[in-house]
Amino acid sequence: MPERILVAVAWPYANGPLHLGHIAGCYLPADIFARYHRLKGNQVLMVSGSDQHGTPITLRAEQEGKTPQEVVAKYHQQFVECWQKLGISFDLYTNTGTDNHARVVHDIFLTLREKGYLYRATMPQPYCPRCQRSLPDRYVEGKCPFCGFDNARGDQCDRCGKPLNPTDLVDPRCRTCGTTPQTIQSEHFFLKLSAFQDRLYAWMKRQAHWKPNVLNFSLRLLEEGLKDRAITRDIEWGVSVPEPGFEKKRIYVWFEAVIGYLSASQEARREGWREFWQGDARAYYFIGKDNIPFHSLIWPAMLMGYGGLNLPYDVPANEFLTLQGRNFSTSRNWAVWLPDYLERYDPDPLRYFLSASMPEGADTDFSWQEYYRRNNDELVATYGNLAHRVLTFVQRHYQGRVPSPTPLDAEGQALLDRARTTLEAVDKSLSLCHFRDALRWAIALAQEANRYLEVRSPWKAVKGDREGAGTSLYVALGVLSCLKTVVYPFLPFSSAQLHRLLGFPGKIEEAGWQWQLPPVGQALPHPQPLFKKLEEKALEDELARLGKAS
Ligand SMILES: [Zn+2]
Ligand SMILES: [Zn+2]
Repeated sequence: MPERILVAVAWPYANGPLHLGHIAGCYLPADIFARYHRLKGNQVLMVSGSDQHGTPITLRAEQEGKTPQEVVAKYHQQFVECWQKLGISFDLYTNTGTDNHARVVHDIFLTLREKGYLYRATMPQPYCPRCQRSLPDRYVEGKCPFCGFDNARGDQCDRCGKPLNPTDLVDPRCRTCGTTPQTIQSEHFFLKLSAFQDRLYAWMKRQAHWKPNVLNFSLRLLEEGLKDRAITRDIEWGVSVPEPGFEKKRIYVWFEAVIGYLSASQEARREGWREFWQGDARAYYFIGKDNIPFHSLIWPAMLMGYGGLNLPYDVPANEFLTLQGRNFSTSRNWAVWLPDYLERYDPDPLRYFLSASMPEGADTDFSWQEYYRRNNDELVATYGNLAHRVLTFVQRHYQGRVPSPTPLDAEGQALLDRARTTLEAVDKSLSLCHFRDALRWAIALAQEANRYLEVRSPWKAVKGDREGAGTSLYVALGVLSCLKTVVYPFLPFSSAQLHRLLGFPGKIEEAGWQWQLPPVGQALPHPQPLFKKLEEKALEDELARLGKAS
């Protein structure tokens, strides 16, 4: 029975270009996981979209002197192009501006309201007398009451990760003009999170398979006690509030963005969406660690309140990627922007680097020096050269046909056994979202194959022992056939190429998670290298480019 897997990926704000930190945080792991499950023959629905609401969008629009619609249209288009070039294989990548999304949000809002999980209350709210407007979420900044961080925003502290209300901030200031805000009273809808406290706790205690960082952080928030949260805002950009008297307010961006997983599933699969939201379907939420509380507490509470839909099965949130030892910073242009990268380089080397250095359990670092080292020493020298040497040799000495093996020697048999173990080990690791382990297994197999060829030296042996050399090549081709499958989720472009170079018909996507030895006598096409070696000069250029104003 194929499993049904919902791969729900964080919704990026369409307010600026994506950088490598975003990709390492959630888009790449989600894509690896989705590709793996599809190859296994499971049914996968991978959805996300551009988040086009909230104060990150309106602030950017005000800075650029544009309308929010103009800002989101530009970046949504750019995101879609990036996914395509990087091979992030969404089944649907939509946005939160659709009628479908508004309809689903209203349905959840009204159902929660009817069941008594939403209520109206007046709350104090910062108001800037100079700008003459309310200051929701990111329009106000100040000191975090929990960790003392100076630049906490009105919706969340970037240092300790705690969700905040604007009035929680110590020494608040208007983000636009720096004025100390006044406090006014405003009526809003609140989500009764406190009503879910015990149910959430009981549920979370059963999630022993979650990453310790996600589980412990969420349990700590629960143990501190959940406070009800306002889910409407005094802002005019967003999903409308289905309630008379609330025409000038909008639904809080976080309340509606998490509903996007559901609305996107409905948009993608019309009648079939329930297969991914009910029964034994499993939902995985790929996010960065700054989004943990919204996916481990708030969204599950909303789902519990709504009823009849599956709660998250796993929330494999990643830690952060740093850049040359420092945090990514948009304002200081300390970033490697994805559109720039994709203009200059191929997608697979980046996918390789970010997989091998994925911030799964702790923060990790991207440096151009390490990127070049991994590209040249691992991708090119270990894996790419293995494929190229073997395939070129087959062309030159065996008329481009898979040589026939004489009975295998012990080393050859051991290497093929190792390939089988690798297929199983990578399978297991990927099913558990242990991406770095999975890739390590694959590269170790390539290293073993190189050692084997070193010892057997078919390049020399072919002169005196053509059959023995042919056997070595046959074994190496067998290892390559295993490699193109186990690295496919990580390196889909080069795996598709290797699939073709090994003479297999059809698309690799349809080949399944299995290991096939290339048929003896099969004609192989003329080989092309899988990866490019990078020059020292390019490394210098990249280092010079960093941090310069664009
Ligand atoms: Zn804090
Ligand atoms: Zn102001």
